[in-house]
Amino acid sequence: MHILIIEDDLAIAANLYDFLESCGHSADAAADGVEGLHLAVSQRFDCILLDIGLPGMNGLALCRKLRQESQNDTPILMLTARDTLDDKLAGFDHGADDYLVKPFALKEVEARLAAMHKRRSGKVASRKLEVDDLSFDPKTLSIRFADKGVKLPPKCIRLLALMMSEPGRVFSRQELESEAWEDVQETSDTLRSHMHVLRRTLTKACGYDPIETIHGLGYCLTLRAQIQN
Ligand code: CA
Repeated sequence: MHILIIEDDLAIAANLYDFLESCGHSADAAADGVEGLHLAVSQRFDCILLDIGLPGMNGLALCRKLRQESQNDTPILMLTARDTLDDKLAGFDHGADDYLVKPFALKEVEARLAAMHKRRSGKVASRKLEVDDLSFDPKTLSIRFADKGVKLPPKCIRLLALMMSEPGRVFSRQELESEAWEDVQETSDTLRSHMHVLRRTLTKACGYDPIETIHGLGYCLTLRAQIQN
């Protein structure tokens, strides 16, 4: 997962950063609310760890701005020093997904983030997706091109459904791996071989390859209009 840490206590932020990276995630950090909001809207994160008491703009205000003004629904785990019901309710009211009271165990942070991410990934694939003539039906887990069924292995379907959820966006190898394999670590060769099967099958079914390799970054699903131009 790619995680944004917004926390002004530098010791806590450094602990979180080191721990999450040691678990195989990538992290970015901001020490105040304004910078945090800027990062949250200008990059894509899988989850945000958000402290409530922050200089510049507090965590609750940041959360509300992100949800209401930016229409950004990245899962947010709120961190606070106080364990009161009012704080908890305020957090949820402003759009937080989960809540953790300081001091917390680092392992618990990671477990909560992973659970939020999983719930969210399920959501992405729970609606019908359509990109050009390609469609994905989450009820039957089937892919169709111009109303003809396209037979793909389950992992390829998950990879394609994720890319179809945001056509034109570059998905990193890490994001694609965590979608297709969830918690199980596989080597990048496996992702490459699944991508190969996916692209070969799509090329046969669609008459063109809608997936583009973005060198050094990952893959993206390109709209046909963009390919023709
Ligand atoms: Ca703080």
